[in-house]
Amino acid sequence: MAPAVFARAGEVDAAAAFPAADIAALADAGLLTAPLPTALGGDGLASDAAQVDGLAALLTVVGDASLTVGRLYEGHCNAVLLADRYGGPLATLAAEAAAGRISGVWNAERGDGPLATRVAGGWRLTGRKIHCSGAGSLARPLVTARPEGSDAPLMFLPDMRGPGIAVDLAVWQAAGMRGTATGTVVFDGAFVADADTFGAPGDYYRAPLFAGGAWRVLAVQLGGLGRILALHAAALGRSGRGGDPVVRQRFAVAAGGYEQARLLVAEAARRATDPAADPPAAVAYVDLARGSFEALALAGIDAARRNVGLGAFLGPDPLDRCCRDLETYLRQPMLDASRDNAAAWLLPRGGRFEP
Ligand SMILES: Cc1cc2nc3c(=O)[nH]c(=O)nc-3n(C[C@H](O)[C@H](O)[C@H](O)COP(=O)(O)OP(=O)(O)OC[C@H]3O[C@@H](n4cnc5c(N)ncnc54)[C@H](O)[C@@H]3O)c2cc1C
Repeated sequence: MAPAVFARAGEVDAAAAFPAADIAALADAGLLTAPLPTALGGDGLASDAAQVDGLAALLTVVGDASLTVGRLYEGHCNAVLLADRYGGPLATLAAEAAAGRISGVWNAERGDGPLATRVAGGWRLTGRKIHCSGAGSLARPLVTARPEGSDAPLMFLPDMRGPGIAVDLAVWQAAGMRGTATGTVVFDGAFVADADTFGAPGDYYRAPLFAGGAWRVLAVQLGGLGRILALHAAALGRSGRGGDPVVRQRFAVAAGGYEQARLLVAEAARRATDPAADPPAAVAYVDLARGSFEALALAGIDAARRNVGLGAFLGPDPLDRCCRDLETYLRQPMLDASRDNAAAWLLPRGGRFEP
């Protein structure tokens, strides 16, 4: 599956459209159901801490094939995990996955975001979500919204095929991650039944699941960074410039950065999902990993661009697309705040996680 996804990624980027063929390939490979609990026909991949290495490896393989597909798949795993942890409608997600439809998590908002108003038998959502990946293609995304008068959101699984919902994909004029179909979704009184509403107010942001869960994004991004390193090496092989000591210096920075990132992400995944871990310590580790990963990834991209030269900015070579995708995907929420939180936790401990 992965080579076919990689082979299609250039077309997906050019079309800036939802990668429907790739999601179908994930479904055919059983990967849409795999995150679900075994009782619902899955492999328990999203929520079974014992399988964290398997989930991390899978996210990295998908990210290596295509960061856009990896981003969508990570959102699907997150939706399943949240529904599993907080009593959501897992049977609905299982039926959707069995039908080949992916879910996702739409939390980002600018300003106040959607409000949820209590009505008989459920809630009505009114307001706007931004940066919704798969908008117009996802049928049952997880959407957060605050009940009127509260700052603590609940989780909803609206049926996007129902009335009172409009999608705007024209806003996604992105340099990279073009094939994620990321858009704005406006809810105008869309009804969500109680059965499709879950979590106590604020559960969505509960530690360590929310902040710690960023390890999954890093696992996907690691795949993209590894692909850039491989394309960088291949380009130097073709040009014969790998014999130059300056070029080799830069390549060593990129390769060393990838290796550091690989070890960091594996450890972040382990700590974030360890049931015995102290939640603030686990979150601080993932926060530190996020900040460090960003620096390592930007250095890897910079080395590839400099060593390969103008060719690294020109299609149809996939190097340019992979760099654009990772540069864009690295823009994750509150990265500076993550570094700040990690430092605040580490300062009184001499900068170490272990005494
Ligand atoms: C490809 C892609 C797909 C996405 N898909 C989804 C999706 O499906 N669902 C979803 O919910 N989201 C999605 N997002 C959005 C994502 O979760 C983040 O909301 C988004 O990437 C935030 O980026 P930002 O640069 O605006 O971050 P920000 O956190 O706004 O950071 C931008 C800058 O502002 C600074 N900053 C932030 N807050 C403050 C502050 N209070 N004071 C001072 N400085 C501040 C930061 O340090 C940073 O320098 C997606 C993003 C991408 C790139």
